[in-house]
Amino acid sequence: MNTTGTAEVAVRHILSDKVTGGILTPKTRTITWTDAHYVVKRPPSGKHTVELTCTECSASLLAEVRDQSTTRTLATIMRVVGALCLVAFVTAFAYAIHEGGKTLPEGQSLPVLFSVSVVTIFVTFVAAPVFYIRGRNYNGVSILDAPKPRRGHRIVPVRVVKKVPPTGR
Ligand SMILES: [Zn+2]
Repeated sequence: MNTTGTAEVAVRHILSDKVTGGILTPKTRTITWTDAHYVVKRPPSGKHTVELTCTECSASLLAEVRDQSTTRTLATIMRVVGALCLVAFVTAFAYAIHEGGKTLPEGQSLPVLFSVSVVTIFVTFVAAPVFYIRGRNYNGVSILDAPKPRRGHRIVPVRVVKKVPPTGR
């Protein structure tokens, strides 16, 4: 099967989204859903809108599908941004340790760059994995706002499982 012109997605119908605990017990979030797999066609170029129907409640959902090359470019950009965040994280971390470890003379405060590096550490710590994971999973399909009730739905990419022998990867 030629998979270059298609994207595989799962339409998730969220049955329940519960957060329990938080005060005495650790907070746990339990999400249950049912999903239906769809194979959507990619446009030759640009993007187009496809309509997917939820098998659970027959709600009509609109999804935007991008062409193969744009999808690949965007996925690469996200991965690159993720990698750059990682570099910035390591750099800022090394700097903060270096600068923060110094014994400052009386009355002298840490340079502004120190505060900047601390902020960078926190931001990139969150951003790096987010971008990286999004870039890895990005398949060019995103859910669009539709006038019909579509709350409690999600469209998630499905990794194309390539048929490979279990030994080789
Ligand atoms: Zn539904």
